[in-house]
Amino acid sequence: MTTSTEALVPRLREICGAGNVITDPLELRTYECDGLTSHRSVPALVVLPAAAAEVASVVAVCAAAGVPFVARGSGTGLSGGALPREDGVLIVMSRMRSVLEIDPVSRRAVVEPGVTNLSVSKAAAPFGLFYAPDPSSQVVCSVGGNVAENSGGAHCLKHGFTVHHVTGLEIVTPAGELTWLGDGTGVCSGYDLLGAFTGSEGTLGIVTKIVVKLMPLPEVVHTLLAAYATTAEGGRAVSDIIAAGIVPAAIEMMDALSIEAAEAAVHCNYPAGAGAVLIVELDGPASEVEAELATVRSLCEKAGATEIRAADDPAQRAVIWAGRKSAFAAVGRISPSFIVQDGVVPRTSLGAVLARIASLSSEAGIRVANVFHAGDGNLHPLVLYDDSVPGQEAAAEEVSGQILDACLEAGGSITGEHGVGVDKSRYMPKMFTSADLDTMQLVRCAFDPANLCNPGKIFPTPRMCGEVPGHRRAPHPAVAAGQAEIF
Ligand SMILES: Cc1cc2nc3c(=O)[nH]c(=O)nc-3n(C[C@H](O)[C@H](O)[C@H](O)COP(=O)(O)OP(=O)(O)OC[C@H]3O[C@@H](n4cnc5c(N)ncnc54)[C@H](O)[C@@H]3O)c2cc1C
Repeated sequence: MTTSTEALVPRLREICGAGNVITDPLELRTYECDGLTSHRSVPALVVLPAAAAEVASVVAVCAAAGVPFVARGSGTGLSGGALPREDGVLIVMSRMRSVLEIDPVSRRAVVEPGVTNLSVSKAAAPFGLFYAPDPSSQVVCSVGGNVAENSGGAHCLKHGFTVHHVTGLEIVTPAGELTWLGDGTGVCSGYDLLGAFTGSEGTLGIVTKIVVKLMPLPEVVHTLLAAYATTAEGGRAVSDIIAAGIVPAAIEMMDALSIEAAEAAVHCNYPAGAGAVLIVELDGPASEVEAELATVRSLCEKAGATEIRAADDPAQRAVIWAGRKSAFAAVGRISPSFIVQDGVVPRTSLGAVLARIASLSSEAGIRVANVFHAGDGNLHPLVLYDDSVPGQEAAAEEVSGQILDACLEAGGSITGEHGVGVDKSRYMPKMFTSADLDTMQLVRCAFDPANLCNPGKIFPTPRMCGEVPGHRRAPHPAVAAGQAEIF
C-alpha cells in the first residue's frame, strides 16, 4: 500500500464499514485482473460500498487526496478495463446488487450496478417482460459493467446494444458528486450525456443506479441450426437472410475448431464433421415468425447447408445455444492459453476477412478458432497458444494484432463490444487520428479534469488533463479557442 492510500484507510472504514475495506495483500490479489488475465496489477486498496452515498463519499475521499480509483463490476471484462492501479483504490460494486423496481406499466426497471444481467430478465419474467441485451457472460457480468462497456450479445442484431436500453443513470462524478444523466424516459433534450457515458469504460464516473427498458417476451421463438462445409457458405446464408429483409434476433456462427472445443466441453452434439454451424433465432408474433422461418430455412439450404435442425421449445433451444454460449471457455479444453479477439467487419466482408484470418493462422503456425456474431459482422477470433512454448505467446499476440489490421482494412473496427481498456489502447491510433483522440480526451477532461477516474485506459499516450502532456505540434483548436485547457 502506498503512503497516500494508507492514509485513507480509517476514513474509508468509517464510510463502508471495517469489513468492507480490504488491505490484506493476499486478499487484494483476488482483484489483480479481469477476464484479460495477461494484464495484472494488485490494487493498493479495495472497498466494497453498499449504497450510492457510500460510493460518492469514497470517490470524494480519493479526489481530495489525488488518489486514482477504478470501478469493478464482476470482473468479466476482456480488455483490462477493470485492471486496478497499484497506487489506487478499486471500488467493487458487487454488494450493490438489487433490482430496486420493476414497473410493468411503463416497462422500466431500476437496478443497482452490481446486479447481474440475467437477474434483470428473471425479475421481469413474471410480468411477461425481459431485458434484451444478453452478453454470453450474462449469468455473472454486472449491468454496471454492461453500461461501461456498452455490451452487446447474441441478440443485439435485432434488439440493439446496452445504449439502446438504458434511459437513465445515477452516477458519481469523479469529484464525488451524485447526479443523474437522462430522466428515465429515454427522451433527451440538450447534449446526450447519457449516450456519451454509456461505453466510456469507467473513465467518466461510477454508475450507481440504472434505469433500463424492458421488452415484452416474444410470443414465439424459433431457433435453427444449419451446418455447412465452410464458413464461406455460412457467410453467404447470413448475407442472403439480411438481403431478404429479415432481421433475426440472432445470427451466430462457429467454425470447425470452435465446434470441436464446444463439443469437448458441453457435448452439444452439433452435426459431425461440420466446417461451420450457423445459429439463426427468430422471435416475435407467431404469424410473422412462421413466415420468416420458411424463408430462412430455404435460404440456408440454397447456401449449401448439409443439415438443418429446428428447435421451438426452450429445452431444445437451450441445447443448440449451449455450444455457442460455452465457446470461449470451451477453448480452454483444446489449448493451454488463448486470446479472445474482438473486431468488426462489414457483413459483406465476412468471407474475405475469415479467409485472411485462416492464412495468417497457417503462416504463423498458430491456431485460430472463430466464433462470432455473424449478423453484426462482430468477429471473436480465439487465438490459441501454449505459453510453455517459448515465443508462442508473442506469435499469438502478433496474429491477434494482424487480425485487427485486417478488420480495419475491410472498413471495420478494433472492437465490437469488449472495449478498448488497456489491451487495445495501442491500436487506437490505427483507427483514429490524433485530432480525433484529442477531441475524445476533451470529453473525458470535462468529466474528470484531474484524471483520477480509471486513468490509463482507452487512450494510447498520456496527453491532457492530469497526465503528462507530450510534445504537440500545435495547440488543439478547442484549446486555441479558449474552450479547453491543458493542465
Ligand atoms: C465468457 C465471456 C463471454 C462474454 N461475452 C460477451 C458478449 O457476448 N458480449 C459482450 O459485450 N461482452 C461479453 N463479455 C465481456 C464482459 O462480460 C462484458 O464486457 C461485461 O459488460 C463486463 O461486465 P463486468 O461486470 O464483468 O465488468 P468489469 O469487468 O468488472 O468492468 C468492465 C468495465 O466497466 C467498468 N465498470 C464496472 N462497473 C462500473 C460501474 N458501476 N460504473 C462505472 N464503470 C464500471 C470497469 O471500470 C471496467 O472499465 C464476455 C466475457 C466473458 C468472460
